[in-house]
Amino acid sequence: MAKDKTINLRVSKELYNKIKKKATENRETISSTTRRFIQDSCEIISDLAGEVLTPREEVFDFEYDGKAVSDTACALCDKKIKKGSKIKIQETNAGKKRTVCGKCE
Ligand SMILES: [Zn+2]
Repeated sequence: MAKDKTINLRVSKELYNKIKKKATENRETISSTTRRFIQDSCEIISDLAGEVLTPREEVFDFEYDGKAVSDTACALCDKKIKKGSKIKIQETNAGKKRTVCGKCE
């Protein structure tokens, strides 16, 4: 606990009462309820950000035609791709590749 930081924050009486009500329901202190709310919110936001914002290394800038050398599946729609089928190969700047069926881009 020595490394924990303290946040003093001002909230409206309405919000305070809501938090107090939750704390009472959960038999927690107002501090631990507030801490949990902030913790949960931060996790939800970072989960959402991870889905909404594509990291740069996940951007596929290159695409070329290819032929499946073995049975595989489309990286986007998960459709099965048979060995010998025409496919598209997409590649990121970092050299990460994925196989995509003819219908996906
Ligand atoms: Zn596909």
